Amino acid sequence: MNDEKSSTSGPSIETILTHGGRTPEEQFGFVNTPVYRGSTVLFKTLDDLEAQQQRYLYGRAGNPTTESVETIVTQLEGAYRTRLLPSGLAAITVALMSCLQSGDDLLISDSAYEPGRVFANKFLARMGISVRYYDPRIGAGLADLMLPNTRAVLAESPGSLTFEVQDIPALAAAAHAGGARLIVDNSWASPLFLQPIALGADLVVHAGTKMFVGHSDAFAGTISATEEAWADVEANRAALGFFTSGDDAFLVARGLRTLAIRIKEHNERSVAMASWLEQQPLVRRVLHPALPSHPDHHLFKRDFKGSGSLFGVVLEPAPRESIAAFLDHLRVFTMGYSWGGYESLCLPVKLSKNRTAKPWTEEGNLFRLHIGFEGMDDLKSDLADALERYARAR
Ligand SMILES: *Cc1c(COP(=O)(O)O)cnc(C)c1O
Repeated sequence: MNDEKSSTSGPSIETILTHGGRTPEEQFGFVNTPVYRGSTVLFKTLDDLEAQQQRYLYGRAGNPTTESVETIVTQLEGAYRTRLLPSGLAAITVALMSCLQSGDDLLISDSAYEPGRVFANKFLARMGISVRYYDPRIGAGLADLMLPNTRAVLAESPGSLTFEVQDIPALAAAAHAGGARLIVDNSWASPLFLQPIALGADLVVHAGTKMFVGHSDAFAGTISATEEAWADVEANRAALGFFTSGDDAFLVARGLRTLAIRIKEHNERSVAMASWLEQQPLVRRVLHPALPSHPDHHLFKRDFKGSGSLFGVVLEPAPRESIAAFLDHLRVFTMGYSWGGYESLCLPVKLSKNRTAKPWTEEGNLFRLHIGFEGMDDLKSDLADALERYARAR
């Protein structure tokens, strides 16, 4: 396996993941930063209390365990700083609020993670912010949508359910020319395979719940930002009272140690499974940017160093009975929300009210797959049988 260079000229990403954020000399020599649990931080004297110069002042602003994660992600993303948040959705909401105020305008990719849309439509709109959506494949055409009061653009590449790749440098140029910040949700690729700040993004958010934690057993999110964007991120996080516990932070740090080997394995497996699926009966289209058949494959090849675990597959049209026959008797794949764990997942996808700028018109039934670490032959035979059931129930 080749080393993955970080966007800065420092150590490789593998070395950052292994050694980053650890301070054994401050932990009696123990390798890992332990779980710090604490609200109160003690001061010795009135001078100390008034000076507010101690490294820690109050637990809500962070502790050594949360900082250990923030340090790693900052290095991975080539950011100025990073904050750990309680969920990926919290990372999106705080990132948006850090860029916007009443009277501003927001542009969101039509392919972005749906709960982020709900936050924008239901909450930001109530705060006097206009929310509009753009075709995920718009690229430099974003410039035509920019209004004088557009202050933020939220991109996600590839998109959550439909896997369009976005032209991040073009979006960044258009956003910056109009005085807006570009936020990129980088959960799919992880910083191993895409570093949006190097491509012009101002803020990068992660659903740490997925690839960072890697075991489906904790929630986390991160916001990494450039120096210019940082102060607003931290001021908004602090004002809103967000804090992530040392217990959860420890699980994120533990997951990050193996991120490189996990995502390289996910990459190989998801590409192999996607290529195999392309050859199967009743498969209309596989939505995986690493496949040459993907309409944005050229952008993927230009910007990404590999792919995540997740992709879509569109099957030829069939009634609900076929979808149920496909899903209800899976033996190895399981059905559930989230992704990024060791277990393979398969989910039916409905696209309707979550597409407004560029309605999804493709016929057929869409499924989203997360390829985990089971035997590849077991996974293939599970899907082959499911496709047979789908066909029989048509
Ligand atoms: C899951 C997900 C989120 C939200 O993360 P949570 O930790 O579940 O809140 C955000 N973005 C993407 C792309 C996701 O897949």
